[in-house]
Amino acid sequence: MSQVLDGRALSRRLNQEVVRPAVAGLSRPPGLAVVLVGQDPASQVYVKRKTLVAGRVGFLHRQIDLSADTSQEALLACIRDLNEDPVIDGILVQLPLPPHLDGQAVLDTIDPSKDVDGFHAENAGLLAQGRPRFVPCTPLGVMRLLEDAGVELSGSHAVVLGRSDIVGKPMAHLLLQQNATVTICHSRTADLAREVARADVLVAAVGRPNLVPGDWIQEGAAVVDVGINRLEDGSLCGDVHYESAAKRASWITPVPGGVGPMTIAMLMANTLQSARMRLGA
Ligand code: NAD
Repeated sequence: MSQVLDGRALSRRLNQEVVRPAVAGLSRPPGLAVVLVGQDPASQVYVKRKTLVAGRVGFLHRQIDLSADTSQEALLACIRDLNEDPVIDGILVQLPLPPHLDGQAVLDTIDPSKDVDGFHAENAGLLAQGRPRFVPCTPLGVMRLLEDAGVELSGSHAVVLGRSDIVGKPMAHLLLQQNATVTICHSRTADLAREVARADVLVAAVGRPNLVPGDWIQEGAAVVDVGINRLEDGSLCGDVHYESAAKRASWITPVPGGVGPMTIAMLMANTLQSARMRLGA
């Protein structure tokens, strides 16, 4: 039977025992601005959770709600204002954006020194070169979970499912930097079952419910499920079939309660880091 990687418990510990006390020692609270364009229900839930936790750890937080028909220029102007705002250390634009907006141009406009999501090309480049500044929160949270559980990465074979700029690619860089041998799988991978079966560490970030059946998993593997999928009955599940995978894996994350809370904890850690850099603390 596997050990459950409890992201809820670890994130609470990090928020309360690391971030909150550090905030108390600064001359002003770290400031986080979250920009939400439109009223996508899932995005509204994510933004609410982020601002709630920001408040709990003692950050100044500001939510900027823009209507779904906001123009590109208005959104860029809002970001430029936040770039100049001295009490704001972190700027996050909740994705996905409505289709008429150019997401890349939006991310490119965020001051890289306030890019606590780590999506700006400058931060992505620094990570790829092995000298990270702001690392995307979800893959960073996965690394913290694996580290906390004592999963050995050096010399392991890690398989990442998904190649997005937000999760898959930065995940692969982080695993590589810990000396794992990394395989990245994607929608055109010829034999997914064969690749998954070789994984000592599997990170699934696809967005397809129960794509990976338990019998693909190698005995003793560490399985991290980033996927969040809503089923017809309203319940949530990951990309890996949890019950069957848990019988073979040595470590496994639940969905929900695994990677999700860690993502938010890493957003707090990145915003704290940004405030420290700005305050010279
Ligand atoms: P995305 O749609 O940008 O990327 C999905 C990736 O999956 C693509 O690279 C694609 O090539 C790959 N893919 C598609 N079909 C595949 C298949 N059959 N086999 C292998 N790979 C395949 O998605 P994303 O933004 O990277 O997010 C992935 C999942 O993670 C989603 O469910 C998302 O909701 C979830 N997510 C969770 C968190 C969290 O905090 N837990 C954060 C970000 C994303």
